[in-house]
Amino acid sequence: KEAKLLYAQPVIEKQVEVLKDECKSLKSKGITPCLKVILVGNNPGSVIYTNSKKKFAEKIGASCEIINLDESTGEEEFLKVVNEFNNDDLVHGILIQLPLPKSLSQIDTTDLVVPHKDVDGFHYENVAKLYRGQLGETSMIPCTPKGIVTMAKYYGIDFAGKNVVIVGRSLIVGKPLSLLLSNLNATVTLAHSKTQNLKDLTKTADIIVTAIGSPKLFTKEYFRDDNSQIIFDVGINRSEDGKLCGDCDFANIKDQVAAITPVPKGVGPMTIFSVSQNLISAAKK
Ligand code: NAD
Repeated sequence: KEAKLLYAQPVIEKQVEVLKDECKSLKSKGITPCLKVILVGNNPGSVIYTNSKKKFAEKIGASCEIINLDESTGEEEFLKVVNEFNNDDLVHGILIQLPLPKSLSQIDTTDLVVPHKDVDGFHYENVAKLYRGQLGETSMIPCTPKGIVTMAKYYGIDFAGKNVVIVGRSLIVGKPLSLLLSNLNATVTLAHSKTQNLKDLTKTADIIVTAIGSPKLFTKEYFRDDNSQIIFDVGINRSEDGKLCGDCDFANIKDQVAAITPVPKGVGPMTIFSVSQNLISAAKK
């Protein structure tokens, strides 16, 4: 049996109208949701991601500006730009696109953006709320974890009581997702590069999230052969033929799992969608 493909497109198509309406209603009160994306240098991946975020924000009627600073920008100038937006009441959301170039790589960006404009959900205050499970409609939750939950809801995938194995413990995907899914009553195992017998572990899961950045590492041996497991493949990698691929070897496993997010067109667009959701939440506040 071939796996069901969990595409982002129908999820977004259904929910985008809600965002458009919310944006319209804010505008009727004189508030135009405004996102500033700070991009330093021109890392090709970052240029693509920032453009997608802008395009989607504008699609829902928000305003979005990409501030493209020169690769050689110094710390003082960079911080000045961030603080200007922090203090500008007409700006509702601020994103610092990572990675920063070498000249700025010493800066810890996690708490530079004030919590109520932190659409990435990286600030300590927002992380603490996630940690404590104090989440509401307008909480700033990191965009990829939030997108996965939005997508799961659409496809009728319930995390409560499920064994979920997340592979990868990054601060932007794996770790916050482990907190979010714990809050949703999943039994979460957070695996990483030091995990032993990963293949045995992933076989025990109901739901597996792969977020390690290793092209096609997850092959048949990592999954049961009973068409029952659901996979969210977060990885965005280039395979040898130059095409985009996930952390899962899609062609190799598609006949033995129940459902899987494709790469591209799976988790990636959900992340972009979450940015705009967080922007609207920030503007509402
Ligand atoms: P990262 O690169 O910061 O960290 C990788 C994590 O994977 C680490 O915790 C490490 O311990 C673990 N890991 C590495 N190799 C492993 C192995 N062989 N076995 C088990 N664990 C291993 O991670 P990141 O920034 O979360 O990115 C991961 C991938 O997700 C990348 O491909 C990135 O491009 C992609 N990504 C996609 C989206 C999206 O919207 N779809 C968003 C963010 C990141």
